[in-house]
Amino acid sequence: MKPGAFEYRKATSVKDVVTWLHGDSTSKILAGGQSLVPVMNFRLAHPSLLVDINEITSLRQITCDADHITIGAMVHHQEMVENREVRQYFPLLSVAARHIGHWAVRNRGTVGGSLAHADPASEWPAVMVALQAQIGVEGIDGSRVISAADLFLGYYTTELAADEMMTTIHISHPNHPLGFAEVARRPGDFALAGAIVEDFGDAHGSVTWFGVAGKPERVKVSLPKEAALRAQSFQTALQTLTQLDEDRHRQQLAITVAERAFQHSHLNGQEYFTFEGGQV
Ligand SMILES: Cc1cc2nc3c(=O)[nH]c(=O)nc-3n(C[C@H](O)[C@H](O)[C@H](O)COP(=O)(O)OP(=O)(O)OC[C@H]3O[C@@H](n4cnc5c(N)ncnc54)[C@H](O)[C@@H]3O)c2cc1C
Repeated sequence: MKPGAFEYRKATSVKDVVTWLHGDSTSKILAGGQSLVPVMNFRLAHPSLLVDINEITSLRQITCDADHITIGAMVHHQEMVENREVRQYFPLLSVAARHIGHWAVRNRGTVGGSLAHADPASEWPAVMVALQAQIGVEGIDGSRVISAADLFLGYYTTELAADEMMTTIHISHPNHPLGFAEVARRPGDFALAGAIVEDFGDAHGSVTWFGVAGKPERVKVSLPKEAALRAQSFQTALQTLTQLDEDRHRQQLAITVAERAFQHSHLNGQEYFTFEGGQV
């Protein structure tokens, strides 16, 4: 399939983008095109104007130290896999990025594009909710910050207005052990179920799933020492999700990946970073 006709403009500044988006209510941002182009090819979207933001180099920066990271919306997934500071200080981000599609997809797809697309099976939305990220957004009337918890409304739906643009993602390190795990049919496929677990260290923590509900939600959970009690605790947490998928097999996978993510939160440093599993 081929897309319908559209106008194409290349933006060189954020101001260009918000001005053009505001001037045409059916316009859309083109980032990596890894989700938008297939959707247009299937004629599920027919924007009249595509605003290409690939030339706005300021959106490609990562600033990272042990406590904070700021990620430009146009940072590619593969850059998150490879960046040395990200690997050192926020290994969870690097591990999560490695599970996104294949190299060709990771090399073009962007963090901001993935968040705006809001696929419930995607890694980035859940990771950002788990880490309580703050999302910087620009519109015609100025900027605002949305917490990741408020950004996702449900399947492929966000709080962003049609004429708003995401510019940065800011995360403060939680300074607790974090673990990530997912199960997919084949390496590179979207997750059937995935989880991020944070261990607060007092037999409590949080779990954020993806692939098992319409949007990611960070749920507080008790983390008892006994695996059977933990499974029960994850089951109770799962049932609180507002848009939980009713498929029982997927729900069972959710418990399995939560337990794996919990186990991975107790591997640290290099050992955790070199973990390659989580997919079957
Ligand atoms: C074969 C294949 C496998 C894939 N596997 C996975 C996977 O396993 N996990 C996963 O998470 N994803 C996967 N993806 C999707 C991929 O991660 C995309 O890169 C991502 O979803 C969209 O990013 P993009 O930069 O390509 O955005 P685009 O496709 O260009 O845009 C997507 C949407 O976001 C909007 N948008 C883009 N940037 C901004 C911005 N800065 N502000 C506001 N709106 C914006 C666009 O207007 C559009 O509506 C896969 C894609 C393919 C083709």
